[in-house]
Amino acid sequence: MAGTNALLMLENFIDGKFLPCSSYIDSYDPSTGEVYCRVPNSGKDEIEAAVKAAREAFPSWSSRSPQERSRVLNQVADLLEQSLEEFAQAESKDQGKTLALARTMDIPRSVQNFRFFASSSLHHTSECTQMDHLGCMHYTVRAPVGVGECCSVRAHLPVMLADAHNILWHCPQGTAGLISPWNLPLYLLTWKIAPAMAAGNTVIAKPSELTSVTAWMLCKLLDKAGVPPGVVNIVFGTGPRVGEALVSHPEVPLISFTGSQPTAERITQLSAPHCKKLSLELGGKNPAIIFEDANLDECIPATVRSSFANQGEICLCTSRIFVQKSIYSEFLKRFVEATRKWKVGIPSDPLVSIGALISKAHLEKVRSYVKRALAEGAQIWCGEGVDKLSLPARNQAGYFMLPTVITDIKDESCCMTEEIFGPVTCVVPFDSEEEVIERANNVKYGLAATVWSSNVGRVHRVAKKLQSGLVWTNCWLIRELNLPFGGMKSSGIGREGAKDSYDFFTEIKTITVKH
Ligand code: NAD
Repeated sequence: MAGTNALLMLENFIDGKFLPCSSYIDSYDPSTGEVYCRVPNSGKDEIEAAVKAAREAFPSWSSRSPQERSRVLNQVADLLEQSLEEFAQAESKDQGKTLALARTMDIPRSVQNFRFFASSSLHHTSECTQMDHLGCMHYTVRAPVGVGECCSVRAHLPVMLADAHNILWHCPQGTAGLISPWNLPLYLLTWKIAPAMAAGNTVIAKPSELTSVTAWMLCKLLDKAGVPPGVVNIVFGTGPRVGEALVSHPEVPLISFTGSQPTAERITQLSAPHCKKLSLELGGKNPAIIFEDANLDECIPATVRSSFANQGEICLCTSRIFVQKSIYSEFLKRFVEATRKWKVGIPSDPLVSIGALISKAHLEKVRSYVKRALAEGAQIWCGEGVDKLSLPARNQAGYFMLPTVITDIKDESCCMTEEIFGPVTCVVPFDSEEEVIERANNVKYGLAATVWSSNVGRVHRVAKKLQSGLVWTNCWLIRELNLPFGGMKSSGIGREGAKDSYDFFTEIKTITVKH
């Protein structure tokens, strides 16, 4: 292991303190393939300590006014923004994404997550209705998940059942368990931490073991921002070890998870005995539907971006492009030309659009899809196996791959049905609107879709019929954080956004008063 002395050593952050761990995992720089960092390999003991800290911090944090909590969140945002460049460099090195993307998307959005929930949490109202004929009024109240009174409903109801099954149900005070993936490390972690904190919860977060550095750096800002010890605890390590310890802990009544569908299945199994509240944001196999009246000058660069941004490692990336037959040849020619202009190279190079993939294993998995497509008789127009990748000597062992365009592939092929999560996209022709809707819907996922057409009626009609939590028409990835985000079918359960996240991170109660 070259350069062991210079390795960056991360520590868990529990109860406002950085704590070493008894064992560590290697973390790689994807652009060189070298180990550069060591991540705590935490387990049950660390989760116990974090739960204790979160439990003790809960009464004080949850009873602060929304305004006070909002001030703290805004402080975190300000401090993060002041260190934007340092965070962007760290994110790019840790994840392999281009520095330009980390600077313009990942870190600014992480700052925005704190500001957004600092503001939106001030504007929630509750419902009230009246039944004058019975002399009653009814109203709702919300409280952070795990707060005594709300949790007692969860705790008391099933007590007999729980005893019978020897299951620990009681969580008089609880904390939110937050688990995030490696593709947008700080962006997705803060999209969970900020609303959970704003709603008055204490949290235990577990970032991906592959990309833990910016979460650790964030911990250094928390005390200065006025976040009390124990409100945010970050515990590092692998999914099967520390992730499962978090999910299985009886005092963690809520899990917000973003990641893959198989992991979601496991989390659901582990949560079931405790009836935990779950939010699952999972993968996609997102279609782009391009009608013959689409404005190709706008559609082509946007579809190249939607296919290959962040190395194609965004859950919202397009990976099935359906093009109406009359414009198929023209689209394909121009799309391949535009794709070839996306330079692959070292993430800090400002001329580079595609950095390194997250890991050797992932690179091999993505490449294997191209091999399978070839074996099925598909054609590769550019990228893997067709064009030559040129890299500096120091980056030869990095996890780089050229953006790859596949055609002549059947809808049933694994390349058209499974999430590849890399710089690979398939282009196929279609005839009619009805046909393309059916084909687009014919996968197990339902996260995001794009529709390109200048016919307003068609755009609305198709968007309504697509089985997809998000539909962008004549654009991609324009986000309105107030509105629900999430997928249907195997792409997830639940939604996140201003009101949706607030609803998820709180319990609601209906109170009836007879006067
Ligand atoms: P993953 O499921 O392998 O891991 C996600 C997180 O879960 C990591 O922190 C991991 O350590 C943890 N984990 C793994 N096994 C676990 C277990 N048994 N118990 C508890 N935690 C466990 O996913 P990934 O490879 O990190 O991320 C890629 C996936 O995430 C893709 O499918 C992508 O589409 C999806 N994703 C979805 C969204 C969305 O918003 N819908 C956003 C980004 C990524």
